[in-house]
Amino acid sequence: MTDTPIINDTTERIELTYRTTGAPIGAPEYTVQLDYLVIACEPNALCDRCDYSPLEKTIFGKFENFTFHTTLLKVKVNKENPAHYGVIFAPSILETMSGKVYGYRNETAKALSAGTENPIDTAEPHLKADSIDPAVAAANELAYNYVTVYQIVRTKDAPSDPSKFKQWIDELMRQGLSDDVNWCYGTDFEILDHVTTPYFDHFTDADLKNYLPWKYLGIQGKRNTIFVHASTCFESVLDIYQYIQMLLTDDANKIGLPTDKTAAIGILGAGPSGLMFGSVLRDMEYTNVTIYEKSGRIGGKTHTIKKLQMRKDGSELNVICELGTCYLSPAYDHFVKDMSRFRQGNDRIGFGGAGGMFRGIMTKDQLGPDPNPHGVIPYGAYIIRKAAMELGAPDAPPQKIISTMERDLTRYIALREELLGHHTPMPMVPPRKLFNEKSSQSFLDFLSEERPDGGNLTSLIGLLQYGYSVQGYGTLKNIPAYYGLIWVSTRVAEAIIDAFKDPKINVVTAWSEGWGNLWEQMATPRPDTGLTPLNVQFSVDTVSIVRPS
Ligand SMILES: Cc1cc2nc3c(=O)[nH]c(=O)nc-3n(C[C@H](O)[C@H](O)[C@H](O)COP(=O)(O)OP(=O)(O)OC[C@H]3O[C@@H](n4cnc5c(N)ncnc54)[C@H](O)[C@@H]3O)c2cc1C
Repeated sequence: MTDTPIINDTTERIELTYRTTGAPIGAPEYTVQLDYLVIACEPNALCDRCDYSPLEKTIFGKFENFTFHTTLLKVKVNKENPAHYGVIFAPSILETMSGKVYGYRNETAKALSAGTENPIDTAEPHLKADSIDPAVAAANELAYNYVTVYQIVRTKDAPSDPSKFKQWIDELMRQGLSDDVNWCYGTDFEILDHVTTPYFDHFTDADLKNYLPWKYLGIQGKRNTIFVHASTCFESVLDIYQYIQMLLTDDANKIGLPTDKTAAIGILGAGPSGLMFGSVLRDMEYTNVTIYEKSGRIGGKTHTIKKLQMRKDGSELNVICELGTCYLSPAYDHFVKDMSRFRQGNDRIGFGGAGGMFRGIMTKDQLGPDPNPHGVIPYGAYIIRKAAMELGAPDAPPQKIISTMERDLTRYIALREELLGHHTPMPMVPPRKLFNEKSSQSFLDFLSEERPDGGNLTSLIGLLQYGYSVQGYGTLKNIPAYYGLIWVSTRVAEAIIDAFKDPKINVVTAWSEGWGNLWEQMATPRPDTGLTPLNVQFSVDTVSIVRPS
């Protein structure tokens, strides 16, 4: 952030030229004059059409990212070989970041367990060959289930041509739905939908140490432009929300929003960041705001698909399938409260409770004998066994391991506060102390470093591997410690400690009607809110952006 206020009330205006998405070159183009521009889509995708400065080009050109591919399947239930778990995660496959199927979630079972508590159940008595999660058992009684399948790849390692990519990733999916991920639904499934999206623009360790996130912060407000897309800090709705709050509250005068409430403000992108910024401008009583969206829909990386299914007793089951944005953690509490106007009839819910069997981790005997032939153990048992292995104490009683993990989480919180401070979603100045630590190169190195206050933090690897990697944010081994520390915030670590003590605490939650419903209500608020709808113009493909210099 710069030190001097930016005054953007210049008479020069921004020219945004666009044509209809999909229209050929030579099709009619339209130009609008704007007083202020909010870029809420991937900024590097605009490099060839926006008059970026050399610094802007340098920052955006340094992003690395992944490609996330999710597929919604309608699968036949296999009565001979029934499913045991509602979610499967295979850490060793994810480690490869190669596009192979690394996990899936049974959306029908998730719906059948909606509203239950989702404890981190660390006891092992349910580790019997025939144990089946109760919601999965209920889903097994239906003729078919909905399942979302997850694949992720480093973008630079995937075919760049979209049709070749599709063929390649589909083939990997069909091969991957195998014993490698305890797939028991066979091959006779129907593909209902799929989503491919660039994911998690982030900087390398070297570029972090060149302070690029803070240089990014420094260009905010210059040339009547701000950037709010997930690339600003970290790829999650919470981080975008907190970043917007940071821009508006910590240094409001520095981003130079027009003082004239009738000024023409254009927002590029109707994903979560564009909608949330549009909503904030509505609250600030700006009256001339247009969101220009390239596609024909709102929500960006949120893809909620609602399916109605019959339960065994004939009643209707509302199955919310999330092919994109999916969960919330306790760190979202404040966000959820602030969203109260836009979540009517859409409750924050736990799921997958009862028995601790909902989430299964593929271990293939790597952490001691599996209780069943599938090579899967429940998440709670996994984190205990993984910690015991890291601590070199495979036979230690679970309660002793949990005590060590609680202690290490407390140490993690203190260390995080010391290195990153309290500011959300990111420190306002580069965390030089963290960057001076050699172990900051990767989150795994960071956790493995021997520290004077009581050794390393490797007891947390299994726990954080799920909380971090399963979300598609890269692997602990390859991602700079900075990003791990941003995502596994103090609030998240505290909630895990609480959840160890109190099984009523949900660390992972979802929306009863899905994330898509939240964005719909934000764009078109219910009448009793007294809010006007956001003005979204669809199918707008940017041709050029010319800003005052
Ligand atoms: C599989 C998956 C699971 C996820 N799970 C979670 C989760 O559990 N919790 C969580 O908090 N987050 C999750 N996320 C991340 C979250 O969805 C993203 O952080 C969020 O969607 C980013 O919002 P955004 O507005 O910055 O970008 P996007 O969502 O990418 O939206 C950008 C929008 O801009 C539009 N656009 C692109 N180019 C242009 C242009 N030139 N002009 C106009 N419009 C343009 C796009 O069509 C899109 O609508 C997940 C994402 C994925 C893919």
